[in-house]
Amino acid sequence: MRQSQMLIPTLKENPADADVISHRLMLRAGLIRQVASGLYTWLPLGLRVLRRVEQILREELARSGAQEVLMPVVQPAELWEESGRWHKMGPEMLRMQDRHQRNFCLSPTHEEVVTDLFRREVHSYRQLPCNFYQIQTKFRDEVRPRFGVMRAREFTMKDGYSFHMDQESLDATYREMHDCYSRILRRMDLRFRAVEADTGNIGGASSHEFHVLADSGEDVIVHALHSDYAANLEKATAAAPPTRPAPTAALTRVATPGQESIAEVSAFLSLPAARCLKTLILDGVDGPVAVVLRGDHALNEIKAQKLPGVTVPLRLAADTAVLEAAGCRPGSLGPLGLAIPTWVDIEAAAVADFVCGANTDGFHYTGANWERDIPLDATRVVDVRNVLPGDPAPDGSGPLALQRGIEVGHIFQLGRVYSAPLAAGVLDRSGASVIPLMGCYGIGVTRMVAAIIEQNHDDAGIIWPRPVAPFDVHVIALNYAKSEAVRTATEGLLQELEQLGFSVLLDDRDERAGVKFADADLIGIPHRVTVGDRGLAQGVVEYRGRRDTENQEVALAALAERLR
Ligand code: ATP
Ligand code: MG
Repeated sequence: MRQSQMLIPTLKENPADADVISHRLMLRAGLIRQVASGLYTWLPLGLRVLRRVEQILREELARSGAQEVLMPVVQPAELWEESGRWHKMGPEMLRMQDRHQRNFCLSPTHEEVVTDLFRREVHSYRQLPCNFYQIQTKFRDEVRPRFGVMRAREFTMKDGYSFHMDQESLDATYREMHDCYSRILRRMDLRFRAVEADTGNIGGASSHEFHVLADSGEDVIVHALHSDYAANLEKATAAAPPTRPAPTAALTRVATPGQESIAEVSAFLSLPAARCLKTLILDGVDGPVAVVLRGDHALNEIKAQKLPGVTVPLRLAADTAVLEAAGCRPGSLGPLGLAIPTWVDIEAAAVADFVCGANTDGFHYTGANWERDIPLDATRVVDVRNVLPGDPAPDGSGPLALQRGIEVGHIFQLGRVYSAPLAAGVLDRSGASVIPLMGCYGIGVTRMVAAIIEQNHDDAGIIWPRPVAPFDVHVIALNYAKSEAVRTATEGLLQELEQLGFSVLLDDRDERAGVKFADADLIGIPHRVTVGDRGLAQGVVEYRGRRDTENQEVALAALAERLR
């Protein structure tokens, strides 16, 4: 391909509204352009990368026995009513009507449609297990589209769905897809981690996420330093704390004027934050509820949202509601005498002789103790905090560590969450109708391209891993317009390399060498070959790998073999 004939609108400057490196580089290298918030056009160079990523997915999914289908993006409301999600899905789902005023949505995911396909076409246990996938557009009206294609509103997902007669078969396919995703990420040379995940609002039992490790990731993932334990922070737990020591101090009410935050109270009383319990009041379905945590611990919103009576999404109660429930401002809250349902984090329940608010502005208790001073109902002791680096792993193997990741893949065991309401029964051996178990498996294809860049770049631009690069070789022709020798040599090279199966981008533009090199670094094709009059006079060209710091002279005649 000739660069003069391809739309690669590179930018010298960093675009103002791009906060992460991949977004900046995708704009600067001319891979994508924004059409509206969260909506992007993929330009020729970007699309080549996207297609190579898709090709790797197709190859590995075929190896895992999945069959490719293509389902519609526009879907009838009736199917979503059958699953109960037409009313459950929030504003993320874009709804519309056709000319007959019938309701439709732009699909955020395809469980309903695939289950409908299955119930119409698959009737016998002999046809199971089966595993369908597609690479298709999804639309989710995200609250905050950002980071370019990483969190877009319209994006491409590889989504797959499997159907099984029993748990053993579902487990086998689930493991196979786990392996398949690992192979895919390894083929793209990505550093990644598979972690236990929260099952979110899709529901179901087992779930793993695949995260590409990057500081810009929106997710925090937790792993044990000395074992295989790994989980999303949303779900990660630590080993249970040791049993609570016996009380030694006397309960004392102390004046703490103006001391409201844990930092202020702990400094004022010269006690570590871990000994100061904090009480949060949340909005509840039937009135406010309280959660008590150690002062050095943070509330885990995903865990808290699962507590009975807590609103989803979780909301801290307004100051007026706090005053009404406890008679004070949020900075003086405590569990002693609090007359609303109270959940206590397991770590907070293990502290003795602690400090807590006295539910009177400007006062705290010191030397407070569970049971002796404050009743503690064992069924109200729960895990609702975020683990911290260094916390003991739940498997007893040693400390936990935290790092950031970009979720590129997610696999779930759905059970019968969709197959039951859609009545997708099949006949078993004895002729009885059985509702199959389902698994579902997603990869964010467009997000994957951004994640690859997050892990592979330098100050000058993108460094494509070879398996997904838009081209294999970038031939830079210096003085192409004026020099007959350069034209002849590069055209010959282009032909020779293409015959060997390399894809080649030939920079035949009438631009200064400096501009061409800067663009080449930005675009990040793995191999760069520079052809100029001076070298040709000696029969040589310059070779440089995208990660190299020096050029190497290579005889023109030997180059193709060398690249091979
Ligand atoms: P997230 O927590 O990032 O919103 P999710 O849990 O909603 O993701 P799934 O419903 O499991 O995602 O979708 C499967 C995959 O689709 C995700 O792992 C992710 O790679 C991709 N994906 C999800 N939402 C978006 C988005 N708004 N833009 C681009 N890719 C997305
Ligand atoms: Mg989401």
